[in-house]
Amino acid sequence: MNKKEIEQTFLKLIEYTYIYGYEDYVKENILPNNLKKDQFGNYYIKIGESKTLFTSHLDTVGKQKLKVNYEIYEKDGHRFVKTDGNTILGADDKAGVTIMLNMIDNSVPGLYYFLIGEETGGAGSRLLAKYMFNMLSNYDRVISFDRRGYGSIINRQVGKWCCSNEFVSGLSEEFKKNGMEFKADPYGVRTDSAYFMAIIPECTNLSVGYFNEHKVTEEQDLDYLLELCNVCTKINWESLPVVREPENFDSTEPEYVQKVTDLPMYKLFNIFDEVYDIIYEEVKFLCANDNFFKPEKEMIFYDKNDLEETLNFIAIVHSDGSITLKKNDIKIKIKNIDSLKKNKKRLKSILSFSHNLYIDEKSINYN
Ligand SMILES: [Zn+2]
Repeated sequence: MNKKEIEQTFLKLIEYTYIYGYEDYVKENILPNNLKKDQFGNYYIKIGESKTLFTSHLDTVGKQKLKVNYEIYEKDGHRFVKTDGNTILGADDKAGVTIMLNMIDNSVPGLYYFLIGEETGGAGSRLLAKYMFNMLSNYDRVISFDRRGYGSIINRQVGKWCCSNEFVSGLSEEFKKNGMEFKADPYGVRTDSAYFMAIIPECTNLSVGYFNEHKVTEEQDLDYLLELCNVCTKINWESLPVVREPENFDSTEPEYVQKVTDLPMYKLFNIFDEVYDIIYEEVKFLCANDNFFKPEKEMIFYDKNDLEETLNFIAIVHSDGSITLKKNDIKIKIKNIDSLKKNKKRLKSILSFSHNLYIDEKSINYN
């Protein structure tokens, strides 16, 4: 594709907000006919021989499919796109989709996955990782094109290192050769490539030049996207170092057999959601494995800025609705969600884990 065609492709892709469940419309109207659909609803194509998996996602955040009215304007010598303020733009992640379509058009070797439901907890990538383990274990690296801003090579997400320093240096060098500056960014949260961290050695997410994603003020640097589209066809992806050992960010499955006296599963899910909300609200910790919640399972909480992983703690929702917070040998037992709510203002000091604590509605006991 030439520059004009790339730009037109991107603008066509953002004509509507395609929420989870509407990804097939993108395929019907814009994506090439030679893409195949997998059993989970993702679209993919394999080009040549390659050990690289490329991903972007077809869905946008939101509650309904809406028409997007956009305008192109100048800022800092670059052309940007934004909406009229009534909808999001959807450059997250149609920018990534555009880059991959141009790479396919240029026959860059790779397995290309256009995933569904990223914004609803990696619906497409989660199932792919779960059921296609053998196929995916042939791959050395997964590159997601789904990071805001400029020049980030995400090397950390869900509280774990997702690619090696050698990989980052190699990729940074490839970009530099082609006139672009990309460097390590350890402050990723989670995108599709995270779900492959237990299978594929080097997993990253690259900046694609969008800003303020998930908001009506979302904007895309159009000139940056055009440059990146061109450079991504020139990078020698296959030559990048493979050093990291695949490692899961999820905890092991608990031995849990449901008993008749247990609270119903939906209530336990609701309790976990409330626990997560309170922890995020009070101390801004994130849960690495919230999409894999089960009662009695160790749910891992981490601070995005804590690169040493010394602040991590575990939360367990038990089948009777009680809650345990724990770190190493120290445990805080909480009678139920209402007790946690009543003590939430104290959560910061509770999470210093200096004592074993039992918290019920009336008393706080140290032991
Ligand atoms: Zn995204």
